[in-house]
Amino acid sequence: MRFRTATGAASGAALPALLLPALLLLALAAVPADAGSDGFRKEAARAVRAHERARAQVDRLRESDASPTEVKDAERRRKAVRAELWDLLWSTGRNSGDPVAVDPSGRDGRCPFGERSRPPERRAHAWTAPTRRYWLSAGYAAKGSRWAHRHTGQDFAVDSGTPVYAVGSGTVRATTCGDGFGNQVVIRHRDGYFTQYAHLSRIDVRKGGRLTAGQRIGLSGATGNVTGPHLHFEVRITPYVGSAVPPLPWLRRKDVQVTAAAVTP
Ligand SMILES: [Zn+2]
Repeated sequence: MRFRTATGAASGAALPALLLPALLLLALAAVPADAGSDGFRKEAARAVRAHERARAQVDRLRESDASPTEVKDAERRRKAVRAELWDLLWSTGRNSGDPVAVDPSGRDGRCPFGERSRPPERRAHAWTAPTRRYWLSAGYAAKGSRWAHRHTGQDFAVDSGTPVYAVGSGTVRATTCGDGFGNQVVIRHRDGYFTQYAHLSRIDVRKGGRLTAGQRIGLSGATGNVTGPHLHFEVRITPYVGSAVPPLPWLRRKDVQVTAAAVTP
């Protein structure tokens, strides 16, 4: 979107040379307004679906023992879709003030960093649920007055101060605070997906830290745009808003069963 706007401005080659930078600046300034537009959202949603189809194709090929070349080609197609989505969301996030794109270390926002992250108390499975003793509230793609459009994650209703865990091993990509997600942690996993944990009362990890599955990363809370304490959990293709996929099917593919009733995994 930004690319097309800039191209349109640049095509006015007959304009005085001094006017062009000014026009380009105007084109860039127009991006934040675009960021919330239906056109942008549709473009991002299309790319998310294309990525998930490409990923499913890779999985299918692997399971059917396809040739390494076939798997490699499918994986290359998936990564190309992701790279496009990544560029789109990064520039939009920068312009709209998404802290994950602007201040991924959370330093400027003075996030409430707390005790150091605790490793799992017992040997964890490869993947785990993000919290314990919860009940599921708003699900992915639910409609509600709190969201401008559709809900992009899964809410786990828990009291404030409930430990929140990394669902799998990975690296802390961002720890931010101050926007609608409140205090949040974004983790990159080895399979290339990211998980986001929002509305925390305290963050126990720092950007760049390495985590094991089930490691405590903070405590649940009610920071940001909420009506009560809960954990907002997202699975994303990129670190940025706009690339979320349905989180419970993603967890199920990793043998993590999240059920509607309160459970202790
Ligand atoms: Zn939520």
